[in-house]
Amino acid sequence: MIGRNGLNLLRETDVMNAMNLSRRHFLMATAVASAAPALAHAAAADPYAASPFRKLSDGDWRARLPPASFEVLRHEDTEPPGSSPLLGEHRKGTFHCLGCGLAIFKSDWKFESGTGWPSFYTYIPGALLKKTDLKIGVPRTEYHCAQCLGHHGHVFDDGPKPTGKRYCNNGVALKFIPA
Ligand SMILES: [Zn+2]
Repeated sequence: MIGRNGLNLLRETDVMNAMNLSRRHFLMATAVASAAPALAHAAAADPYAASPFRKLSDGDWRARLPPASFEVLRHEDTEPPGSSPLLGEHRKGTFHCLGCGLAIFKSDWKFESGTGWPSFYTYIPGALLKKTDLKIGVPRTEYHCAQCLGHHGHVFDDGPKPTGKRYCNNGVALKFIPA
């Protein structure tokens, strides 16, 4: 009886140990599984999360930017069509975010869209973040500078080859640097 009870007891203990062990492993595996994608996602989706530009207040931006650029970049305004001097900019170079200096478009990707806004068919990978804008009742894809989160424009599917995309950008949100 004792031996049998002892054996049973041992078995129960083993089972309990095994259960605790597997429960620990399960909890650890769950913790790793839930933390890893979140971290990977945060790092991949937002490499500029710690940027000092993200810490600027609305007042800071107002003091740093020309009024029209401030309204577009920080309050999602749209410049009047045909108003941007960058429409006629045909030199080789790079278009940067006026807010933070991040390079966004190369001159090779600029095309004449006839819309009155500087237009590009693609952008430097990682330079833009996109979100759906419902302001006019029809869903449009709005894009922001990936670093300072300043609003730049909207992207449409009626662009030229090779992408078929049209990045319709406010000129006041950009700064051109010749090559
Ligand atoms: Zn920026």
